[in-house]
Amino acid sequence: MRLRVAARSDTGRVREANEDRFVVLDLDLRSGARMIAVADGMGGHKAGDVASSIALRELSGVVSLGAGPDGWLQSLQRGVEQANASVFEAALSNDNQAGMGTTLTAAVLDRGRLDLVHVGDSRAYLIRKGSMELLTQDDSLVQELVRMGDISPADALTHPQKNVLTRAVGTRPRVEVQIVSRELDPGDRVLLCSDGLYSLVSEEAILQALMAGGIQEGVEGLVDEANQRGGHDNITAVAVEVEGL
Ligand code: MG
Repeated sequence: MRLRVAARSDTGRVREANEDRFVVLDLDLRSGARMIAVADGMGGHKAGDVASSIALRELSGVVSLGAGPDGWLQSLQRGVEQANASVFEAALSNDNQAGMGTTLTAAVLDRGRLDLVHVGDSRAYLIRKGSMELLTQDDSLVQELVRMGDISPADALTHPQKNVLTRAVGTRPRVEVQIVSRELDPGDRVLLCSDGLYSLVSEEAILQALMAGGIQEGVEGLVDEANQRGGHDNITAVAVEVEGL
């Protein structure tokens, strides 16, 4: 599988530190399999970047051992469980890191297929033939309110409690994970991003940026646009283009 990957992470214009992390991992140089992942950490005393760093390190360690007998989803799920256990342990053993946690959205692209695991309110989109599909559900309080019809999706982006997560990696002993699989076609593009991007840049603008030309320019332009719109949070975007199967 031939893949082109582009990524950018930025502190934004308000926060002092970037607690978002991302990883791009070559899994098999012969097949071209890769993992991409985004983690948006949270917690006081700069614990957020500890949580997101631990989570991606643990996930990468497990997934780099290879696919399970039933495929990559197995090792991705094991990776998230390992990430959850390690962040939870670290939070318990250090007062400065109590309660820390992180979102985690990770995908393996291999042999014409996308396998994805997701916890939290970062997002994954699949862009195909000029349209864009949101693959993940936000594990957030405002998303619950949207589901119940109490507020609109537009209200959710500006709601005072929009940062409250209903699920995160590392905040409880066990974690529930959303899993998604898709067949991929040449020309497909996949975007993983933190809420610092999609809360400021519309889905139309994201689609335009990633359809317009090279994905590196697309990713750079999206982060710039989020900053122009205030950059109130850390901004991370990782995009993959399927060049061939
Ligand atoms: Mg964020």
